[in-house]
Amino acid sequence: MEIIVMGCGTSQGVPLVAHDNPGLDLSNSKNWRTRTSVHVIIEGHHVQVDAAPEFRLQCLVNRINDVDSFILTHGHADHVLGMDDLRQFCTNSGKAMPVYTTAQGKHRIEAIYPYAIGAMASPGYIELDVSLFPKELKLPGGGIVTSTVLPHGSESTLGLIFYEPSTGKKFVYYTDCKTLTREAIALAQDCDVAILDGLRPNFHPTHMTIGKACEMSVEINAKQAYITHMTYQIDYGKWPESELAAAYPKVGLCYDGQRIVLK
Ligand SMILES: [Zn+2]
Ligand SMILES: [Zn+2]
Repeated sequence: MEIIVMGCGTSQGVPLVAHDNPGLDLSNSKNWRTRTSVHVIIEGHHVQVDAAPEFRLQCLVNRINDVDSFILTHGHADHVLGMDDLRQFCTNSGKAMPVYTTAQGKHRIEAIYPYAIGAMASPGYIELDVSLFPKELKLPGGGIVTSTVLPHGSESTLGLIFYEPSTGKKFVYYTDCKTLTREAIALAQDCDVAILDGLRPNFHPTHMTIGKACEMSVEINAKQAYITHMTYQIDYGKWPESELAAAYPKVGLCYDGQRIVLK
């Protein structure tokens, strides 16, 4: 299994527009974060999870030439607004893109992209075949994705657990969540890698703080965890000297373009 971190920035991206971004070293390219999404290659099947507004550029930079299935974790703008750029993948495959999401996510897709669904779809544009995410999704090739609902204010998020039978590896992707439910903690137990929402040091009503994400990495007993959906208040270069890094040696920060190979 291979995980490509397409973006790991919060909803406005990092650095913020029209803002001083105090404390952030802009000479470090790892502090330039596009909006959050990942690309997962599991049993040879390419799964794109969310499409940030920068999705097209993320595909070019990371040389993503295949998307076989698409998962929308929830319908917030920073996750849904790049979906029109699934167009070339539909053209290349000659069929509608299989899309899996929540009921709210499905409504959002139908509201934003009515021209891509059913009889409205036309050749040469995107065509989306949208389904509700089942409890367990069996992908072509044999990869299995289990889902759980994560609390995220008025818009719940799909938490995703990827399991690759040929390697026995387990990858957990829990973005955009205020906390982890008991079910989410149980499903993630002993994972090889977890990517967890850790917005910023201080309280937020719908996201975990970075401290809470570190605590949760221990709760789920992740062999390795990384933080995503970060604001400008988290500087990549300063992390190794932080108290959290000392207290949680199995936690690191994501960066755009990061590749994690599990074999
Ligand atoms: Zn988000
Ligand atoms: Zn969100």
